Amino acid sequence: MKEYEKKLNVSEDFKIAYFSMEYGLHECLPIYSGGLGVLSGDHLKGASDLGLPFYGFGLLYKLGYFNQQINLDGMQEEVYEENNWYTKPVHKLANDDGTDMILKIRLGSEECYIQPWCINVGKVPLYLMDTNLTLNKEKFRHITDYLYVADREMRLLQELVIAYGSMELMKKINLNPTIFHLNEGHSAFLILKRMEDLINEHNFTYEEAVELIHSSTVFTTHTPVPAGNERYSNDLVEPYLRDRCLAFGKNFNEIKQLAAEENMDNQFSMSVLAIRFSNYINGVSKIHSEVSKKMWHSIYPGVCEQEMPIHGITNGVHIQTWLGPQLVGLFDRYIGTGYQHIAEEKSVWENVLTIPETEIWEAHMQRKQQLISYINKRLEKSLIYKSDLQLFHEGGSLVLDSSHLMIGFARRFAPYKRANLILRYPERLLKLLNHPTHPIQFVFAGKAHPADVKGKELIKKIIEFAREHDVQDKFVFIEDYNIDVARHLVQGVDVWLNNPIKPLEASGTSGMKAGMNGVLNLSVLDGWWPECYDGENGWSIEADENIIDQELRDRLEAEELFYKLESEIAPLYYTRNKNGYPSAWIAMTINSIYPVGRDFNMHRMLREYVNDFYLPGSLYSKILSQDNQKCLKELVGLKSLLKDKWQDVKISDLKLDLHENAIVLSGQKIPVTATTYLNGIDDDLLECEIYYKYDDKFSTASLRKTRTEGDFTIFEGNIKIVSSGIQYFNARLKPRPYLFRDFLNLVKWYY
Ligand SMILES: *Cc1c(COP(=O)(O)O)cnc(C)c1O
Repeated sequence: MKEYEKKLNVSEDFKIAYFSMEYGLHECLPIYSGGLGVLSGDHLKGASDLGLPFYGFGLLYKLGYFNQQINLDGMQEEVYEENNWYTKPVHKLANDDGTDMILKIRLGSEECYIQPWCINVGKVPLYLMDTNLTLNKEKFRHITDYLYVADREMRLLQELVIAYGSMELMKKINLNPTIFHLNEGHSAFLILKRMEDLINEHNFTYEEAVELIHSSTVFTTHTPVPAGNERYSNDLVEPYLRDRCLAFGKNFNEIKQLAAEENMDNQFSMSVLAIRFSNYINGVSKIHSEVSKKMWHSIYPGVCEQEMPIHGITNGVHIQTWLGPQLVGLFDRYIGTGYQHIAEEKSVWENVLTIPETEIWEAHMQRKQQLISYINKRLEKSLIYKSDLQLFHEGGSLVLDSSHLMIGFARRFAPYKRANLILRYPERLLKLLNHPTHPIQFVFAGKAHPADVKGKELIKKIIEFAREHDVQDKFVFIEDYNIDVARHLVQGVDVWLNNPIKPLEASGTSGMKAGMNGVLNLSVLDGWWPECYDGENGWSIEADENIIDQELRDRLEAEELFYKLESEIAPLYYTRNKNGYPSAWIAMTINSIYPVGRDFNMHRMLREYVNDFYLPGSLYSKILSQDNQKCLKELVGLKSLLKDKWQDVKISDLKLDLHENAIVLSGQKIPVTATTYLNGIDDDLLECEIYYKYDDKFSTASLRKTRTEGDFTIFEGNIKIVSSGIQYFNARLKPRPYLFRDFLNLVKWYY
């Protein structure tokens, strides 16, 4: 039996193709920029651990993402280094005769050649497309130069290459995935390519192709920032898609409708295209899924926001990648070797509670000292520290002190992450830094996107503050945030600070890495943190989303941040028992390792994707294809019948059997009668239900067909009253959901 079958209790064979523009596997492979990349890398590693039949697809960038240098003015400069792939753990794919495998795709009216490469991520192959070939015309050679290239046409070409190139490769190596997992809209052209192949090569109709794609596509959105979702002007896209669409019988005007977004004229939205064609959609935390429902509600106006089919699958992190070696040693002893392989079993983590406090603390202090040595070494290379401080002359003084409380803040310097929140009250900050008994030191790291002027300003402000007030030894900015820096930081600081503007942090995986290592989170209750925070395992900053004035909100949240640092965090850290240990702090540390390890590991996340998406999707598409597509043909037939007749279907009357002024008691059932006109549609195909709201919740109750009266069909049932009564009710007709998973566009409401 395969490992995933044992672990996940599945018997059906299936294959998952996973698409992402970036993969953060290790610092030696600079083909990632941040959170999405590291998550994709961890996803592949976890899939390998579990023995899932998994295949990654992406691009191999010649220059990748930039290395960050800070110049003497404190400004970020971007340095691009050309990758020499022959010295890295990546190999070219070859034909059977040993020659380089070269793929050919059409881009507009021209041919583009692609060399596919492969990285073996454990047992999972990651295929990466490279267009830097002399076979290509000059422009095409540069398609895969930069990750997140700013030029719109180049970006479009990248997204065409990941979609069309990956599909071409699958044909070549005879890989037929049952699931296509799209991360962000970047790879959504896959949908059009699959449609083209299903129609032109496998003789399906357009409607059949739509059903097949829908049943086997997973879409994960990773950002609640509207600008983070990919859009192109239709004029830019059309030359590349016009002929391709015509070849399967659609003109571009029809296809562009599928990617059209409310209030965004003439834009081709990759996210919208992906959502329309995915049966399985998720955000990366519970809050993020709710925010995404709001964001994309206009795609399915017939249903209520809460019913938008966007799940919340909260991210996780790969333990073996992120857990510090000292903790690995402790876990091996107290949990038992091999716990990493059964990390999704919650009971495994209970043994964390048995680790003695002294051992946890010693392990942490070793990581902290290691981090300080690491930072000092890195700073030797830093222009700004050399020039300003001459810290390293003649073995001079070193920055940071392991006996002082250390706060880490490392993330993209995007303005919504508010790296400068702590600078709001400079005097108060200086007091913390220079406190005689409770000093606090800060370590920052992070890159700003090359085009993000505001983000770069934030970095400059941090550096200038340290210079101006002569606190460069305790208010430190480390250049060139990458996986290596991240690993050292999340294992070695005492507190991990995160203060984004809620709800703009989709998940925030760095806090999980920290929490798992016994580093305490101090974070705005956004992304994953509300799912973990219990008052005893870290600290919260209560964002007040209802305050519209951002200035006021920043002030209140900064106040809270300072209050917690001054009155709770520093005192707790510096309170030592007679043996010199901060007992209460260590107890909190254990309270953090336990739930973070248990609930935010990569295996738990993968289990949810497998059980909720990958397996049902594979089974569903298999059912559609069985017996010469019997179910598929029936489904398409029924759908077309429903669509033809739906226009005139209606609920003509709705009656609640409730007298005016009647006193409604909790638990009471109120009879409901709906009179409907079904336009000849068999009532078995439909569901008539009552929808009602109470408090902030809603409920639905299915009504039963009781009789017909002439052309009308009568449905009856009850509303069950809860304590607060009902604030609103309505009735609706919809196709039965198990027959029509995307019933969402065919809903008829009474009002
Ligand atoms: C984990 C990680 C991230 C993502 O962390 P956030 O909490 O989302 O900011 C970004 N970059 C690197 C290098 C990481 O390791």
